Amino acid sequence: MAKQYETVIGLEVHVELSTKTKIFCGCSTKFGGRPNTHTCPVCTGMPGALPVLNRKVAEYALKLGIALNCEINQYCRFDRKNYFYPDNPQNYQISQLYLPVCHDGFLEFFVSGEKKRVRIHEMHMEEDAGKLIHDEWEDSSLVDYNRSGVPLLEIVSEPDMRTAEEVIAYLEKLRMICRYLGVSDCRLQEGSMRADVNLSVREAGSKKLGIRTEMKNLNSFKAVTHAIEGERERQIELLNEHREVVQETRRWDDNKEASYGMRSKEDAKDYRYFPDPDLQPVVISDEWLEALRREQPEFQEERKQRFRDTYGLSEYDAGILTQSRHLADLFETVADLSGFPKKTANWLMVEGLRILKEMGMEPEELSFTPEHLAVLIQAVERGEIHHANARLVFEQILEADVEPLGFMEEHGMRIVMDDGALTAAVEEVLKENPKAVEEYRSGKEKVFGFLVGQVMKKMKGKADPGKVNEALKKAEDSLLLIRQR
Ligand code: ADP
Ligand code: MG
Ligand code: ZN
Repeated sequence: MAKQYETVIGLEVHVELSTKTKIFCGCSTKFGGRPNTHTCPVCTGMPGALPVLNRKVAEYALKLGIALNCEINQYCRFDRKNYFYPDNPQNYQISQLYLPVCHDGFLEFFVSGEKKRVRIHEMHMEEDAGKLIHDEWEDSSLVDYNRSGVPLLEIVSEPDMRTAEEVIAYLEKLRMICRYLGVSDCRLQEGSMRADVNLSVREAGSKKLGIRTEMKNLNSFKAVTHAIEGERERQIELLNEHREVVQETRRWDDNKEASYGMRSKEDAKDYRYFPDPDLQPVVISDEWLEALRREQPEFQEERKQRFRDTYGLSEYDAGILTQSRHLADLFETVADLSGFPKKTANWLMVEGLRILKEMGMEPEELSFTPEHLAVLIQAVERGEIHHANARLVFEQILEADVEPLGFMEEHGMRIVMDDGALTAAVEEVLKENPKAVEEYRSGKEKVFGFLVGQVMKKMKGKADPGKVNEALKKAEDSLLLIRQR
């Protein structure tokens, strides 16, 4: 019988922090920009240039560490990780090895309805490297140091995950926490969240860890899943053939759906780590830590419960609206302003998420004025605009933040509420259509719909069908349109 294997996975995740400036200098962290324009002597590794820690980086590290239930090293330090590579102008990366800012935490999340806890081994602050651009046409490589010195947090888990599904759930939860805290936008495609997957297999029931490989270059959840499945199979095949898994770093090529050995796995000792003599140790006061603990935001679970209790939302709706803090904030503001929380939830979830998808945007990118949506929802509820038109206006709010009432007026979408005009239209229609009235009187009820249509036409569509119905019924009452029974 074939042997049963268990997959064991630990993750090293890098998140790029959304500070305005770099970790050790005042250069901008903005993505893009002409190559080598966001640079200075510090982040290009000029001799004699001295780094100074950006306080925001420590603050973000502490915030995330608290959210990940970590112990905090209130005395921590930076170390030099020495290696040569052209994107690394100092020939060392400033990182933390001996005293990382946070350690021994955990992250909990749900996988197929079951609660899963993954222990966090440690989390440290470090600087990002520059970017090499390989120009195959010119047969040369170019280097852009704009990213050099952008702050990163590296979050190292214990090898507690067993399936790709758990890994994705872990990454999603981590991303949500970072976004709720506002410490990183965590976009895998843009590289502001990067996951290295360490994976080994072992015979089911065995307590000893197998030899692992590390896979880099995973820039989507799909790639993470494929890489895990591919590597698991590769290792099981080796073991079944009584061959050895080599501890190495592999590159996953998602197009070819295969991984390649890049280099044998280096050890900490290969990097000749030592404390960076240019930087002071970081001392975190009790007061600062306490203040940060108090400032922790309401995270998804609590907020979801509050949305259910306060606004009467379903579990499902509350779950979707709280997936992004920004979306949850928008919902809450619009719900309070409009006084129609359930309608607000519907508009945001059904129309809002549909439009976002069409525009290829994420909820984080919604930037309209909440009052505008609130006013539109109220107009719909007052019967001042047809639903189909309201959808168009909503699209305009999302795309261009238009003011809805003005827009409705301008485009003739505002339903005339003036009863005088409506009554006059009804009277005219009855006068102009004696035959239809006659038929209706003799019992042909279908004709009523025709009359409604005629009135709508006269009102150029700017009347609420419900109101027109009412007005015609009133006419019936006042003997203009008595049906003979
Ligand atoms: P290094 O410092 O060489 O990167 P670490 O011991 O710090 O190695 O581990 C890095 C990551 O690899 C961690 O997330 C850890 O959980 C994971 N890991 C370590 N050993 C194994 C293993 N045998 N199988 C799967 N993952 C592992
Ligand atoms: Mg490592
Ligand atoms: Zn700089």
